[in-house]
Amino acid sequence: MSMFEDIPVEVGVIYEGERIRRKDMQIELGGPDVKEKFELARVKKPEEIEDGKTTIIGPDIKDMEAEKSYPFGLLIEVAGAKLEPELEGVIERRIHAYCNFIEGFMHLNQRYDIWLRLSKKSFQKGLNSFEYIGKVLQRLFKSELPIIEKMQVTFITNPEKVKPLYNEALEIYETRDAKARGLKDEEVDKFYGCVLCQSFAPTHVCVITPQRYSNCGAISWFDGRAAASVDPKGPVFTIEKGEMVDPVKGEFSGVNEAVKKKSLGEITKVWLYTAFGYPHTSCGCFEGVAFFIPEVDGFGILHRGYKDTAVNGLPFSTLADSTAGGRQIDGFHGVSIEYMRSQKFLQADNGWKRVVWMPKEVKERVKSFIPTELVDKIATEEQAKTIDELKAFLKERGHPVVSSWKEEAVAVEETAPLESEEAPLIPVATASTLPITAGGFKIILKDAKIYAKKVIIRSEKSEKTRKGEGSAKK
Ligand code: SF4
Repeated sequence: MSMFEDIPVEVGVIYEGERIRRKDMQIELGGPDVKEKFELARVKKPEEIEDGKTTIIGPDIKDMEAEKSYPFGLLIEVAGAKLEPELEGVIERRIHAYCNFIEGFMHLNQRYDIWLRLSKKSFQKGLNSFEYIGKVLQRLFKSELPIIEKMQVTFITNPEKVKPLYNEALEIYETRDAKARGLKDEEVDKFYGCVLCQSFAPTHVCVITPQRYSNCGAISWFDGRAAASVDPKGPVFTIEKGEMVDPVKGEFSGVNEAVKKKSLGEITKVWLYTAFGYPHTSCGCFEGVAFFIPEVDGFGILHRGYKDTAVNGLPFSTLADSTAGGRQIDGFHGVSIEYMRSQKFLQADNGWKRVVWMPKEVKERVKSFIPTELVDKIATEEQAKTIDELKAFLKERGHPVVSSWKEEAVAVEETAPLESEEAPLIPVATASTLPITAGGFKIILKDAKIYAKKVIIRSEKSEKTRKGEGSAKK
């Protein structure tokens, strides 16, 4: 029996984290194949809301061709005596959780990146109209957030109507983000945490500070403050900053304590402004990934919407898998676009001076926040599609990382005759939980850091060529 008798499928927290594969999907809303998609929450005056109303603009689920992707907009409008516009971001982020409570309905990402799928199974059970989804959202929102007194939901599937509203939504997101800029981490004594994504990544805890926006890019420090005050038992909570242990890496005793508690002891230490050592964990809904490119000693950045492979030959999905799941992985770091606009962005790793490559689209979005002298030194896909092209570009433009290549070369020369001496160890991997299977036993290393004397990075392609050459000689 369903949680709601008039809804044809089950609704409950057990369905969070359910994935729907392409072959099992009835329809897809938004997602990587669709440009225009958004979800938006707005706080309105009570007289502007028709409580309980669901509106569908465009074809309903039952009228949509099976196995196709559609432009999509989801607008949640709410009113209540205690509701402030500051809560819009937090209310909007709950759409993710509540949609995922519906059996056979998957919701990924946020804002302009949303990706929803309805399963064939749930469609066949009768979930064939947005009316049902609207009803579920109204009931869950009102029961979980009693400050919402009135609510109406609008689903937009007509592409002509989605487009202008999508552009409007982008402007609203930008206004919200701009409002949160300016305040510094040093000026507050509280940060905020969020565990909304623990259904997908049980050890992940977002630490939201004025200068480190949440990974999903949907919750600012102001949003966190508003959420924690109206719903203190909810997924967004207050973190007392405590003692500043390291101002450059961004280590705070209060953050360590809070993260340890909320990750049930799995994560014991977090450095907020670096991708190395104890980086902030990543769940799965980060807007972009910063990935270290050892060949040039710099970072590449890839955003979720980028269809091609990054300069190191890897697509977003592979890079995202390298860091998702609530882990701390050296050199792979889930980030929001707004964090790239922060002065604390990878501060301990040399910030923008260490960024060497990013897609043109995302570079344009953050261009005015990149130090002027570096803008033309950071390559996009138009200047470099391979590591060799990237090296040539960085050298030609005099990117700051190039000086570290020279230093390394000199250092290698100087130390070469002393090879027999104890070589410095290079950190290779960090993991809070690292299972190894050997001889019929499973060994779990906790808080593991793996070091090596020498690291050889070779592309699979050149490895095959090398092997091919070897066998040809025989
Ligand atoms: S990415 Fe972080 S802030 Fe955003 S919903 Fe997930 S846990 Fe919360």
